[in-house]
Amino acid sequence: MIDTLEHRLKIQARSLGFELAGIAAAAQADGFDQFQDWLARDFAGDMSYLRRLAPARRHPAAILPDVRSVVMLGLNYYGAAPSAGEARIARYACGEDYHVVLRRKLNELLAWVQAEVPGARGRGVVDTAPLLERDFARRAGLGWFGKNTMLIHKRLGSFFFLAALLLDLDLHPDAPFEARHCGTCTACLDACPTQAFVGPYQLDARRCISYLTIELRGPVAEELRAGVGPWLFGCDICQDVCPWNRKAPWGREPALQPHADLEALDPAELVGITDAEFRRRFRGTALWRTKRQGLARNAALVLGNTAGIEALPALEAAAGDADPVVQEAARWAMARIRERAGTGG
Ligand code: SF4
Ligand code: SF4
Repeated sequence: MIDTLEHRLKIQARSLGFELAGIAAAAQADGFDQFQDWLARDFAGDMSYLRRLAPARRHPAAILPDVRSVVMLGLNYYGAAPSAGEARIARYACGEDYHVVLRRKLNELLAWVQAEVPGARGRGVVDTAPLLERDFARRAGLGWFGKNTMLIHKRLGSFFFLAALLLDLDLHPDAPFEARHCGTCTACLDACPTQAFVGPYQLDARRCISYLTIELRGPVAEELRAGVGPWLFGCDICQDVCPWNRKAPWGREPALQPHADLEALDPAELVGITDAEFRRRFRGTALWRTKRQGLARNAALVLGNTAGIEALPALEAAAGDADPVVQEAARWAMARIRERAGTGG
């Protein structure tokens, strides 16, 4: 038993830094119908790539035609909450871009498999290919779906990345995780500042701060702006309040440790960031995804929600930005700050 390929593969995965490793048979994703329903209810908002590639999520064979097994891996990124004054960014975004880190490890793991089983074929997946990762992670025994829609592991909580290695090898699967350990808790549902949960296990991404600050191009709907609060990029609230994260261990991956540049984010400076400066500071980090427009817009919203009149000069300059989305967010923020300060329009 100890010397099986499955066992050695998991040891190898752990030596590469994946604290969780489990195996599921390649079969139709359990949650495909729910995913279709979620899309049909328009909860994905402008994430058109989800709709475009939806049929492919039915079965991992859409990614690797001869796939037989899905090795699901978890990499812990939990760390101290980064914060620059009032502005916050999600924990997962504090280090090097996780896609790069995970891809590197997946390539190493695949090379190891191919050395063990010459001719084996595989493909690593890090949320760039159409796979319902959480479904396969549950099936591979890694954890359960929390009411906040995250996969939760009893020891690690939910602050970990999921990655998959699809293989054309018949590996012995692990037992699926059948229990759910949320019980009567509703902390995540109650804490969401934008009421993005339409019910337990159901997220309307269009209201989620992660979607609004990362995925959405264009203006954030006015009624959701106050809820964005101090979040410049992403949101951790529904994970921070989860009791399963209270005792979660710190992640050990050096590449995911907070980047000095990301620990010192000043929204008053970011609201006026130039394209060149954005490229210089954020290429190779998760924040790259927002593009300059998104980050400057988010910085304006954060200032509008948290800053005092000292932020007005930066916002006045941003109100003259070439980008109308940034301009409008800056004007909104100035009005909010003046309202708070009682200085009128
Ligand atoms: S990430 Fe934040 S905004 Fe999104 S559902 Fe969780 S608490 Fe709500
Ligand atoms: S906060 Fe409570 S309900 Fe939400 S995922 Fe955690 S345990 Fe489940």
